[in-house]
Amino acid sequence: MRLATFLAPEEADAGAVARQRTGVVDGDDLVDLTDAAVGLPGDMAALLGLGAEAWARAAGASATSARRWGLEEVELLAPVTLPPKVLAIGMNYSAHVAEMGHLDEPGYQPPAHQYWFNKQRTAVTGPSADIVVPAVSSQVDYEGELGVVIGRRAKSVPAARWLDVVAGFTVVNDVSVRDWQAHSPTFTMGKSFDTHCPLGPWIVTPDEVGDVRSLRLRTWVNGELRQDATTADLIFGPDDMIEYLTTAFPLEPGDVLSTGTPSGVGAGFRPPRWLRPGDVVRVEIERVGVLENRVVDGPPAAPPPDPVVGEH
Ligand code: ZN
Repeated sequence: MRLATFLAPEEADAGAVARQRTGVVDGDDLVDLTDAAVGLPGDMAALLGLGAEAWARAAGASATSARRWGLEEVELLAPVTLPPKVLAIGMNYSAHVAEMGHLDEPGYQPPAHQYWFNKQRTAVTGPSADIVVPAVSSQVDYEGELGVVIGRRAKSVPAARWLDVVAGFTVVNDVSVRDWQAHSPTFTMGKSFDTHCPLGPWIVTPDEVGDVRSLRLRTWVNGELRQDATTADLIFGPDDMIEYLTTAFPLEPGDVLSTGTPSGVGAGFRPPRWLRPGDVVRVEIERVGVLENRVVDGPPAAPPPDPVVGEH
């Protein structure tokens, strides 16, 4: 099953979150899960949070009289438009660790622990939405990654049971502002600019994806192949990730885990090849889907706010 979030044609310009719909892909159609015949919420995190009964209704929606939309006529949004959390792992493909120069650092040791950081959830944008270059940096980079979407609340999950808590898989572009990323070891600032988390085009359930450690992942910029790898090369797999994360805190329906990027990012070139306005970035993961996002110039930096009046 493939689950999507979308705006219907008459709504596509409005962009109103309140009118977003969820759907299940059936051939070239999307069956509208918010139609009264199915009665599910238009917010994917809320839908997933309803649990097994809602899941069964989604799975059976194609057999109902629910309204259908052609995939070509709707605007696909990120499948989870505002995930409760977006967590991403760094240094999870050896060839990427090498291209970032870490292997040359004196005394470098491969990470003994999983190297997690967070992207602010407000950075999430759609599978064909624009990526904005902020006024404060020109060092904008792409990172094609496999995303895992959590399907139920999960705490203390053993690695062997990881699939029990997964709704499915999606594609992530972990867009990174490299100079701001280097401001602090947490990466948070450089990973969280608006529009810097294209997500989608849908959630594909594990039964359709099959072996998640054998997926070819490719990224192109303006048609030039930059990343070409397989998830077989992940250092830590999603099973290890879910065990590790849920040792410390719960994962919740709609949370997104981004599993790391292979080599071939712009920062790995000498000189670096940053994304520029007008570029088109395409990330494709076999059996999961495609993101294709145009890069655009952001608005100029906002003027400083009025001085705060008062004693300090
Ligand atoms: Zn990344």
